Amino acid sequence: MSASPVTARADAPPVLSEALLRRFDAPGPRYTSYPTADRFVEAFGPADCLRALSQRAHGATVGGPAPLSVYVHIPFCESVCYYCACNKVITRHHERAAEYLDALDTEIGLVRAALGPREQVSQLHFGGGSPTFLSDAELDRVVTSLRRAFRIAAGAEMSIEVDPRTVTAMRLAHLRQLGFNRVSFGVQDFDPQVQQAVHRVQPFDSVRELMKSARAQGFESINADLIYGLPRQTPESFARTVAQIGELRPDRIALYAYAHLPQRFKPQRRIVADELPSASQRVAMLGGAIAGFLGRGYSYIGMDHFALPDDALAVAKRQGRLHRNFQGYSTQPDCDLIGLGVSAIGRIGASYHQNAKTLPEYYDALRQGQLPVVRGIALSRDDLVRRAVIMALMCQGRVEFESIELAHLIKMRDYFASELEQLAPLAEAGLVEIERDAIQVTAAGWYVVRAVAMVFDRYLQNDKLRERFSRII
Ligand code: SF4
Repeated sequence: MSASPVTARADAPPVLSEALLRRFDAPGPRYTSYPTADRFVEAFGPADCLRALSQRAHGATVGGPAPLSVYVHIPFCESVCYYCACNKVITRHHERAAEYLDALDTEIGLVRAALGPREQVSQLHFGGGSPTFLSDAELDRVVTSLRRAFRIAAGAEMSIEVDPRTVTAMRLAHLRQLGFNRVSFGVQDFDPQVQQAVHRVQPFDSVRELMKSARAQGFESINADLIYGLPRQTPESFARTVAQIGELRPDRIALYAYAHLPQRFKPQRRIVADELPSASQRVAMLGGAIAGFLGRGYSYIGMDHFALPDDALAVAKRQGRLHRNFQGYSTQPDCDLIGLGVSAIGRIGASYHQNAKTLPEYYDALRQGQLPVVRGIALSRDDLVRRAVIMALMCQGRVEFESIELAHLIKMRDYFASELEQLAPLAEAGLVEIERDAIQVTAAGWYVVRAVAMVFDRYLQNDKLRERFSRII
């Protein structure tokens, strides 16, 4: 494999060689939270979540309550995509939504009761599964319940994930009427062979018409999700998808790597392993996509994300105002998050919690009048310091020692002595610069920023130590 540089244009400076991508673009957490959800414990349950909500309600959080964001998980999909690793329920029985919406109403009521007065919400996101599995009337019902429980701020971000196979221009118009102003299309790949191999057939023309219509209807931001590493993809075929996306010109692009874990995710067992691209093809696809999007005028936001230069995310990145939450990068300041629905994750103050992952468990808890929280975590002082460092790296690409030292009463060089040593290979590779009073992620380092963040993840470091220890004995 050659170590040819990935460049935006022939005259642009190299941003990362394929050799470095190979070495440092290791699978790892996306850090939509720290600690990551796999570290949540069952000892944290509904009572802990209620306590956190009531502390928020009584203004017991330092500096007053954070702005509020709400996430609603709709788990249903009509048919399964073979690459899927989401928490979803595959069904053609649309009547199943009614029971779910009843449960969701109960959950909204319990949260509202714990929070007290109707709170203002600055960000609302519907994800899944496929939120557009719901009919127009069912979506009306959920939005009405939410508006009854919360005050949705004027100018709030209201976003929804859309499966292009389940919407028409009329449905998009209805979403707009309901107040949604951002829409995210699951595209993944436009190649018909690839679409067949992953059981998600949605022709380019239909996605183009939907995006056109979303734009005409005044959605402020249109996102397209892509995946590389899928069966039957080649660097050449994926370059065609990248060019087609360039033609549609969504405001934002999320580019994810497919992780083939058939033991963990049952639908992936239907993927023919022999049809998966090789490691070097994957690196070429990633490199080609980065160069393709930069060459078409997109800005690199951070891990997996690109945006047009005048999109709010790109502006926030330039101004150092990016944040990160369970929906990925956000322009919203550090929010508390109410997660509603099966498997949804929330964050209140210095704690995270997650709802039951199966519908029977979720329904049972709510029938008993209990929040359906089954695990979570109260952050320790160490978690809070590391969260601040990891989020600064992921969002600003820079950690100023002084700001962390003042906020957390530590000495960065003492507290993170071992981590700073571990950054040395990344510094030698030109991915970070360790200054006297700061850590700076370089332009090339942004492409592997999660590898930089992983150095500060105590849980991962402990796993590594344990692994080494078990090998020694
Ligand atoms: S990828 Fe999305 S639409 Fe496909 S099965 Fe998974 S959740 Fe449903």
